[in-house]
Amino acid sequence: MTQSTPAIVILGQGALATARRIQQLYPTAQIHGLAGRVEGADCSYQEFGATLRELYQQDTPIIALCAAGIVIRTLAPLLLEKGAEPAVLAVAEDGSAVVPLLGGLGGVNVMAREIAAALQVAAAITTSGELRFGTCLLNPPSGYALADLELGKRFVSDLLAGHSVRIEGAAPWLDQAQLPQDPQAQRSIHVGSAERVASANELLIYPRSVAVAVSAQLDDQPHAVRAALQQAGVAQQSLACLLAADTEMASARLREAALELGVPLRFVAAQKDLGELARQALPQAAISNTNGLAIARAEQPLDVAQIGRQRGRLAVIGLGPGAAELMVPAVKAELARATDVLGYETYVRMAGPFRDDQVQHCTDNREEMQRARHAFRLAAEGRSVIVVSSGDPGVFAMAAAVLEALHESTDPKWHSVELEILPGVSASLATAAQAGAPLGHDFCVMSLSDNLKPWSIIEKRLDLAAEADLALAFYNPISRARPWQLGRALEIVAQHRSAATPVVLGRDIGRPGQTLRVTTLGQLTPDQVDMRTMVLVGSSTTCTFPKAEGGEWVYTPRWYGEKPQS
Ligand code: SAH
Repeated sequence: MTQSTPAIVILGQGALATARRIQQLYPTAQIHGLAGRVEGADCSYQEFGATLRELYQQDTPIIALCAAGIVIRTLAPLLLEKGAEPAVLAVAEDGSAVVPLLGGLGGVNVMAREIAAALQVAAAITTSGELRFGTCLLNPPSGYALADLELGKRFVSDLLAGHSVRIEGAAPWLDQAQLPQDPQAQRSIHVGSAERVASANELLIYPRSVAVAVSAQLDDQPHAVRAALQQAGVAQQSLACLLAADTEMASARLREAALELGVPLRFVAAQKDLGELARQALPQAAISNTNGLAIARAEQPLDVAQIGRQRGRLAVIGLGPGAAELMVPAVKAELARATDVLGYETYVRMAGPFRDDQVQHCTDNREEMQRARHAFRLAAEGRSVIVVSSGDPGVFAMAAAVLEALHESTDPKWHSVELEILPGVSASLATAAQAGAPLGHDFCVMSLSDNLKPWSIIEKRLDLAAEADLALAFYNPISRARPWQLGRALEIVAQHRSAATPVVLGRDIGRPGQTLRVTTLGQLTPDQVDMRTMVLVGSSTTCTFPKAEGGEWVYTPRWYGEKPQS
């Protein structure tokens, strides 16, 4: 099983030293410290329970430096829902105890042993098979797949009951295990890619040593692949990846087929036929052609990352206004998988921290098109690239620039990149939510920057939107280079709105030192606003009333004209 990077979670300053020792074992792991209690952690969290549950749900292995009971109670509500689970360990703050709690099949005992060895204590291993044999037979290393977990459990209890075992095929990872081996044993561990029905006395393990080359033209690829494997006598679990010509990289069919078969898709330069393509990708393998597919069988598990290349990916993401809780989970997952991160330095820093293997490309805020093209060049090499925006990437941000760069390009490699735009909470919505619901009815979103459009069009739109009695949300309201524009904009709005119209000013919303201010159009002056401010101007129906805890609620009712009977 491939182990993803664990998270080290600590509750108090006293645990930091132990956490750092554990981090030396997993250099890409981050130490998450409770905000206000821990100083010097890699990142901080507000709420222990929510943080732990989120990590668990994202399949992140968890090393929690606290009482086992706290971890158990925190994760308990999630336990029944889950089949496979990440490794979860509790480690004593002072490093004196290492307790594997969950994720036996996720390699928790392996981690417990590693950590215990580093801390020079004994791991609290409680799994009988593991204690006796020094390895979990049901959790073969990456590159191998267990045929059947239930049969496997019975097999292990047979061995625990005293039966001996012989090994058929190559199982190098068992060389160190203390198995009761006997060449005459009835029970066997069988390692091989041939399809077979496991007998009751057999633990079947398949090496992922087979690749199948397919064409995007082929109908019902998953079925065709399964049928071809069956015909060739190869077990499906031995399938390590699909291969295809790089000219077919953008095929949705191929992508879906790989997804359905649960294997990666790797691309190789197109050849005269699929057999030749498979040979190019895997020169050492035995190639056979079946039903319009080519099957490549190797002796050893395949190192898929070394075969051909993967389809590059480019995600344009929105971080939301700043606070981690306001970032959508899809964006968090994307940040974790990225190899390269591009964006304006402030936003890249906001999106971090990143692992050492993730490359950060920080650029100036104004070089949008250059950044978009740079992103495509990287993604076309097969990398997993992120372009970062604050708020939503489609709102006065990078998504449109990235699409424009693609639209202008005739490079098929750029068009083959898997492009996805992941939304975020835009500043107007984050600000509106804090104030109440000032955008509760029809509203108009505008950038007051005349960097990329003539000022005359801004005046025209302002005039018409104000006349149409839309609530208004102003992005980029003012800057040092544009000092007078906001004042002029407010004059235009004031021609259509009363001085009592509510105005919301949100500054650095969702970031440290955020401020929210409710005022009126009559009282608003440009010096109250800077480039980190969101300006929301109400419509004729927008109203305010006092909040019990001080300040005011602002909202625009859903209705317009006659108030409906309720
Ligand atoms: N894509 C971003 C907007 C980029 S334009 C989004 O969807 O939010 C930049 C402008 O957005 C700033 O000048 C400011 O007006 C506003 N803005 C961005 N983040 C903000 C925040 N956290 N608080 C208040 N305004 C913000």
